[in-house]
Amino acid sequence: MGQPLFDIPSIPSLEIIGSDDRFPVRRIFCVGRNYAAHAAEMGNEVDREAPFYFTKAAHALVLSGAEIAYPVGTEDCHYEMEFVIAIGTPTHAVSQGAAMGAVYGYACGIDLTRRDLQAKAKEGRKPWDLGKDFDQSALMGAITPAATFGAIGDQAITLEMDGVLRQSAHLSDMIWSVPEIIAHLSGFYHLTQGDLIYTGTPAGVGPVHPGAQIKGAIAGLEPIALSIAP
Ligand code: MN
Repeated sequence: MGQPLFDIPSIPSLEIIGSDDRFPVRRIFCVGRNYAAHAAEMGNEVDREAPFYFTKAAHALVLSGAEIAYPVGTEDCHYEMEFVIAIGTPTHAVSQGAAMGAVYGYACGIDLTRRDLQAKAKEGRKPWDLGKDFDQSALMGAITPAATFGAIGDQAITLEMDGVLRQSAHLSDMIWSVPEIIAHLSGFYHLTQGDLIYTGTPAGVGPVHPGAQIKGAIAGLEPIALSIAP
């Protein structure tokens, strides 16, 4: 057995509210079109038969409070504020009734999207990877344990850029509920501790710009912040 050719990259991890422990991140799943008003603003019909997903690499993760350079390869990078589920228990093919047992906690996330590249991919019926899975595209805040957060109801989810409110909705506006998403996704993956699920964005997405100051909030969770370098 040889030695690794280079240092094994460290696994990104997230702060946990009320704990000195950190939450190591394994995989990042994202739900598409989970708010009807956002699907409509993108010109899409909502598929009510089943949720669909895309993924981001764990190494695309950026911690709240960071300043990042404007992403490369795009002229139309958008913010998407999202409620994120942190999985805490190995879970496969779970029923909706048992799905919440998989949850460790929740956090605010922003799914940065190279909208021009995503649109080109959609046009060509090609995968979304270039539009979605790129360096520093997954912003994450601290995780609040599920027991502290309590039940998912009509908590407000908002995003403001440069002090102007851009997205405002409620978690109850989600088309697919958290137990529905976990039950469905767990039929295709062995979900495990460290997996994150971004649950989709409400209406009001739009472009970021150099110098942008972005703040996201969900009632009951630690807010999230991102700066784009001037
Ligand atoms: Mn999204």
